[in-house]
Amino acid sequence: MGIISEYRRRRIKARPLPREWKRVIDEIPVLTHLTSADREELEGTTKVLVHEKHFEGAGGLSLNQDMKVTIAAQAALLLLHRHTDYYPRLVSIIVYPSQYIAPNMQRDQTGIVTEGPQVRAGESWSRGAVVLAWDEVAVGATGQRPGHNVVIHEFTHQLDAENGEMDGVPLLTADRYPPWVRVMEEEYAHLRAAVDAGQPTVIDPYGATNPAEFFAVVTELFFTDPGTLIDAHPRVYETLADYFRQDPARFVRLPRWVITL
Ligand SMILES: [Zn+2]
Repeated sequence: MGIISEYRRRRIKARPLPREWKRVIDEIPVLTHLTSADREELEGTTKVLVHEKHFEGAGGLSLNQDMKVTIAAQAALLLLHRHTDYYPRLVSIIVYPSQYIAPNMQRDQTGIVTEGPQVRAGESWSRGAVVLAWDEVAVGATGQRPGHNVVIHEFTHQLDAENGEMDGVPLLTADRYPPWVRVMEEEYAHLRAAVDAGQPTVIDPYGATNPAEFFAVVTELFFTDPGTLIDAHPRVYETLADYFRQDPARFVRLPRWVITL
């Protein structure tokens, strides 16, 4: 990323936010707790993502601006407070109308990770693309299914791939690798054991598929149901809070009367 793209991005961020974009962002519960400074940063990142990434409707879907903003604003949430590029490996965001049928491909040597054997809500390629089902995006954006948000899930895979491998470990500073690996490996092993034993789990059993899915699934929980994650798996919560530089449980755990005092 050179000086020219930095300059261009500053200009894009300085543009006024279209009123329709504001309305779309206001309606996404996972974004409503942000402070005004965070909200401004999120809006700037959203503008850059909508401008720089190639959004494409597939399977007959005509992708409108509201849909792009819905996706970009939630992807922007994962970049808040962090010194990072804007999903540098990601070129295209491809959106189908609904869950789509595709050949069964697990993660392979080219870095393609697919969600589920046949019917897919989304997928993430380490080289260039995120694929989403719009009906899943829409449900996730309402916040009505705590723990589930396909946009957060697939863009977490993109962050995971930033260091070249989609292996459940994102790009970290050197001092942060050991604690990340220790906590996440242990918690992943616990989840696998619980799923194998048929025990109920707070973390979606899909996270037991592999470490990359574990990272994506706990990140969905972190942002959409943080109080549950911090109560059940505080070490995972703290690891993600440190990585994302955010503390979403702080907002939902405060009883309303404390705020109004
Ligand atoms: Zn996944």
